[in-house]
Amino acid sequence: MKRRDLIKAGLAAGSLAALSAQAQSAQANQPGILVRTRNLIFFAYDGMGWEDYAIAQFYSRRVLGRPLALERFLATGVSGLQNTNSLTSFVTESSAAANAWSTGVKTVNGGLAIHIDGRKLSPIFALAKQQGKAVGVVTTATVTHATPAAFLVSNPDRNAEEEIAQQYLEFGAEVYLGGGQRFFDPAVRRDKKDLYAEFAAKGYGVVRTLAELQASNASKLLGVFSSSHVPYEADRRFQGVNVPSLAEMTRAALPRLAAHTKGFVLQVEAARIDHANHLNDPAGSLWEILAADEALEVVMNFVDQNPDTLLVIGSDHVCGAPALYGAGSSYRESSAGVLQLEAQKGTFEFMLGRLGNNPSPEQVTELFRSVKGVALKPEQAQAVVDAITKRVYLPDGVRYGVQPANTLSWVMRQTNASKPDLPNIGWNSGQHTASPTLFGVYGRGVGAVRIGLIDNTYNFTLMTRALGIRFQNPVMSEQEALEVLKSRAEVPILHPEDVLA
Ligand SMILES: [Zn+2]
Repeated sequence: MKRRDLIKAGLAAGSLAALSAQAQSAQANQPGILVRTRNLIFFAYDGMGWEDYAIAQFYSRRVLGRPLALERFLATGVSGLQNTNSLTSFVTESSAAANAWSTGVKTVNGGLAIHIDGRKLSPIFALAKQQGKAVGVVTTATVTHATPAAFLVSNPDRNAEEEIAQQYLEFGAEVYLGGGQRFFDPAVRRDKKDLYAEFAAKGYGVVRTLAELQASNASKLLGVFSSSHVPYEADRRFQGVNVPSLAEMTRAALPRLAAHTKGFVLQVEAARIDHANHLNDPAGSLWEILAADEALEVVMNFVDQNPDTLLVIGSDHVCGAPALYGAGSSYRESSAGVLQLEAQKGTFEFMLGRLGNNPSPEQVTELFRSVKGVALKPEQAQAVVDAITKRVYLPDGVRYGVQPANTLSWVMRQTNASKPDLPNIGWNSGQHTASPTLFGVYGRGVGAVRIGLIDNTYNFTLMTRALGIRFQNPVMSEQEALEVLKSRAEVPILHPEDVLA
């Protein structure tokens, strides 16, 4: 349907608003959380779907010899599904999804805690701060990235990360840990401001390496461990990239926040499941989920020992829609395909960094062998060279718009139908997709919560009730938002080149 027709359709049955209303009316019948909680932790799986979960679940049990902490969560907590659509798009991006969680209302894709007409919204962690709670965010993305930022501050542009870093200084959370040095560094910032010095002047320990993080005894922390996003877990683990893991950052955050007498709110985000799925990188995504699981274990142990803490987990949307498809006669070879992920010891991001702008087919072949355990044919190595040097992409540059990475994934897909010669995992695209996602709660008193199918805005209802906050952000209708977009001639979708923004 064209956008003009969408506007005409307005609030007709089948519109996104009608879908949200359905889930919201179901929520109205649900008992809220019955026990007020002192501490609240939100654990975000960015871009994780159920197939991602299934692959990690199997790999963890079969190769690592242990079930996922997430399995324990699902078995003992209360969980269900959430609708993820944004106000005007059936496929959300991370800021609109985070806004729904953090403000309780739907917004247009692209801004942080703000409506498309400029009305600012109050995000949940800002409300909690007014109550006297300590605040922390821990992420493997840039610390100023959409999912943490939308819990703290308003900004019409999620990509204005230099400005968001400045807003963080003024917000004054106790813990900021993630990537994004370039948004704080006077040598890189456009305004040449030294945000490191300004944070230090406000009493923060400013750390940029794992060793500095572990040596710091500062009660407030700004930790930024890479220029952009924190390098992937697969590269940290197997390629010697020296950055803290998500679990290590989480372990640094918890005692600092727990020291506050009025309790705390914390977001921990496993941000790069999304990125690896955009790239269609099987081991990249797998190891991000396994790293997330180690952090989840840390958080669940904290909740077990501090029962006045509520843990909420959710995935904001699915990305790429990977699937582990059945392989071999009667699918009997399906497991064998997954186990081939054991040979993969790094990510496409790492490989593309090594290959640079003008690689030879020999370099490509050697890197696929050493990092992915894959023997490329000469024409496949040439296809990778062509993607990097000539922008000739496989299978295409539309659905698979995160290039040249999607081409790297395509050349190492399974080609033997009867017995997987490579992992039997396929992706729908390089983009976010529309399906409902995981939402769950864990901790004392959650037995009174029923989730079933909710709207992602329900998280705000749940958190405000748990913290004893009474607040309602202004609601905007889909019709109003479409009219604003029409007047600005903006199209409410992301362009392929923006997907990793
Ligand atoms: Zn996301």
